[in-house]
Amino acid sequence: MNATILPRLGACDLVLKGARVIDPATGTDGMLDVAIAGGKIAGVRADLPVPDGAQRMDLAGAIVTPGLIDTHAHIYEHVTGDFGLNADLVGVRGGVTTVVDQGGPSALTFGGFKQFIVEPSQSRVLCFLSSYLAGGLLGHRYVDLYGPTGINVAAIVKMARQHPDLIKGIKAHAEPGGFSRWGLESLKLGKQAGRELGLPTYVHLGTLWPQKEGSGDVNPREIIEQVVPLLDAGDVLAHPFTRYPSGFVNADGSIHPLVFEALAKGVTIDVGRGAHFSFDNARAVLDAGILPTTLGADLHGYNIKYPDGGRWYRGMFTDTQDVVPSEDMADDAALPFSTPYGLHHAMSELMALGVTLPQVVAMATSHAARLLRMEETIGALRIGMDADISVFRVLEGEWTLQDSNGKQVVTKQLLHPQCVVRAGKVVATDSPLLPDVAQLAA
Ligand SMILES: [Zn+2]
Repeated sequence: MNATILPRLGACDLVLKGARVIDPATGTDGMLDVAIAGGKIAGVRADLPVPDGAQRMDLAGAIVTPGLIDTHAHIYEHVTGDFGLNADLVGVRGGVTTVVDQGGPSALTFGGFKQFIVEPSQSRVLCFLSSYLAGGLLGHRYVDLYGPTGINVAAIVKMARQHPDLIKGIKAHAEPGGFSRWGLESLKLGKQAGRELGLPTYVHLGTLWPQKEGSGDVNPREIIEQVVPLLDAGDVLAHPFTRYPSGFVNADGSIHPLVFEALAKGVTIDVGRGAHFSFDNARAVLDAGILPTTLGADLHGYNIKYPDGGRWYRGMFTDTQDVVPSEDMADDAALPFSTPYGLHHAMSELMALGVTLPQVVAMATSHAARLLRMEETIGALRIGMDADISVFRVLEGEWTLQDSNGKQVVTKQLLHPQCVVRAGKVVATDSPLLPDVAQLAA
């Protein structure tokens, strides 16, 4: 330990004692203590002393990791209507220190996002800027706002250049509804902005909008065939496990060969759990040797039951003249995704499929920091970095996990948050969005 650290350690404010510390960025996995001073990481090693006046947290049996990063959230509260959840309920109070809004704010609405969401939140809040001038209003409900005429590349580039500390990429879509109207024109414009900025483009796969009436059936394979050649290293394919068509898995259960081509050229994969998650498709993807890079939970007001009187999927796509409800959407109305979940839950689901704890921690820490190009700031427990830390438990037992199709899998390990440290301050994980563990007992 170098000399500049010792005086800080002596003056440290908080010592986390006796947990299993997993920090993939530094190759750490062991029973260690973590000292925090002045909101920064001051030391990570065994048997750290607790100086007089410092707070000691005994965490025997807990897991301590760098603050978890949720790479896919929807937290532009109010402006995106009942789609946008409260940032701290998804963030620090949900056990997550950094939350990335995927496509809520746009070139037109980013100012409000910065002032009313980023600045007052205790969580670290970042975003991928929407390709569309409309942003993610009501969860992209009014499909006609999302065609190429609703995109202005110069406006995206200008806004992203003004806020490089907060805008970390561009959000776009490639799915059958948009494809039936405009082909991939909207994605091409979003991608053009990403390329000009040198930022990653995050591409949503899987049905979002109903197909245009009379457009005939879109062949989902055709979408992947046209998307992959547009992508560069560092771009992101999202929702690989989607239960909807046009994801990684073909109707016959095989993986589209172009997915491997995308991976070979450095495209990464974000889980984007959301209302998409299918255990069967996840198994098919993992069995093909494909491991997602990052693990966004994709929480939003339409896929999580919110205890304020029911913000959930009810009514989506059915009470507006502007969209045509498809059979898929009708199914969704019957299955309102009321099972609460969160990032830890999405991690548990992957573990139930055989992914290891260190692997899921890497997805939600070091890999996510790399996607955001913030490896020097977050996603690791390095001395001098902001003390963003997640503390959670692996609950042993029999737990029933349910995917978005209603398929259930019983698992023996469930991750559940205990608290976070955000910039040195301890925050209890009391979000009402978190699942009630007792209800998951098999
Ligand atoms: Zn989403």
